[in-house]
Amino acid sequence: MSQSVCILGVTGSIGQSTLKILQQHAEHYTVFAVTAHSRMQELVDICQQFQPEIAVVPQAKVDELRQLLVAANLQNIEILADEAGLIAVAEHPEVDVVMAAIVGAAGLMPTLAAVKAGKRVLLANKEALVMSGEIMMQAAHDHQALLLPVDSEHNAIFQCLPQTYLQAERHGQPKLGVSGILLTASGGPFLKHSLDELHNVTPAQACKHPNWSMGQKISVDSATLMNKGLELIEACHLFSIEEHFVTVVVHPQSIIHSMVQYVDGSTLAQMGNPDMCTPIAHALAWPERIQTHVPALDLFKNHQLDFQAPDTHRFPALSLARQAMKTGGTAPAILNAANEIAVAAFLNQQVGFMGIPAIVEHTLNTIPHQAATQLDVILEADQNARHVAQQYVVNIGI
Ligand code: NAD
Ligand code: MG
Repeated sequence: MSQSVCILGVTGSIGQSTLKILQQHAEHYTVFAVTAHSRMQELVDICQQFQPEIAVVPQAKVDELRQLLVAANLQNIEILADEAGLIAVAEHPEVDVVMAAIVGAAGLMPTLAAVKAGKRVLLANKEALVMSGEIMMQAAHDHQALLLPVDSEHNAIFQCLPQTYLQAERHGQPKLGVSGILLTASGGPFLKHSLDELHNVTPAQACKHPNWSMGQKISVDSATLMNKGLELIEACHLFSIEEHFVTVVVHPQSIIHSMVQYVDGSTLAQMGNPDMCTPIAHALAWPERIQTHVPALDLFKNHQLDFQAPDTHRFPALSLARQAMKTGGTAPAILNAANEIAVAAFLNQQVGFMGIPAIVEHTLNTIPHQAATQLDVILEADQNARHVAQQYVVNIGI
């Protein structure tokens, strides 16, 4: 029987890769709902091709979308708006699978709604889990949602873990013979830049990732290594381990997507060409496998794999994230919110590249952290952090 899919953030990089896989397996999947924050014409093109029942956009875009849909003879597609619309499609009874591919904190409530509705949730939106780790994992457990990692590293780790790992009890220690995780990082476009050079890099340079083609925000996060910091927190929650069990390894070729180490001395790695279609297809079909267009790895061509330790002096974001995870409570939500503000300020050329970790550090030092067992406490910390970070942008701005 065909599975009904909701794609949150369909116009983004992950959204597009998801559509590619769904198109290739159209006999098994139907697109029930799609959402987008901007680029209405692209959304209409997607609607034309995939004929969803519902499209969700910001209220301010509803009229524009309606006109475009009418012009394309697609007036039967229902339009919903804002966060309420996102939540409605994420928890819709007709939906089996939710691809959570909105970028940033905006994805938290719809992703959580999908988890609480017990869906198969394909998690790309790492910021949602970073903010609400304990609540999201507990909700997945309570509502028997299948929360499957799409982030390439976490998907790799999931593939290298024992099959029953996610069902085992959660208590912060690795289980079933696992001793630790090696989280790989490409190192981003500035791996070899000196600290002096880093002060002067531009948004265009930061968005040009050597191995992956991605949205702007995650591209900047990859350049600061904050992406690896967010992924460290993501791994701790997904796999129920304390942060000291996760070692970050810089591996510039992005062929190994992460590794799991076992008590008997084994290290298992998942390898492949860097293309998000592989982890998306894996999460979509798990425990089965489905075909993608991604070519098999040619080890005679990719014959050199290098590894090095990350330099947290030039890339302090990684240490800030590790410390936030160690601190726990609302600290990761504060880190994430400050980073979102800092990245936007860097992209708008209001602050320099090294302003990003400076803003995050200032915000973490300014706002007291609290326990994060209530969603409203997390949302309040997020708002406070945005406010403090924005003020600091004004103070240190260029
Ligand atoms: P993107 O910027 O290309 O796309 C983001 C999508 O979210 C778009 O559809 C956009 O319209 C929508 N969106 C943006 N702001 C929104 C808002 N306020 N409310 C509702 N919708 C909004 O981003 P992406 O690269 O596809 O990344 C999406 C998520 O997946 C991020 O959390 C990212 O960290 C994660 N991820 C991406 C990759 C990748 O290769 N691109 C890899 C791993 C994880
Ligand atoms: Mg990743």
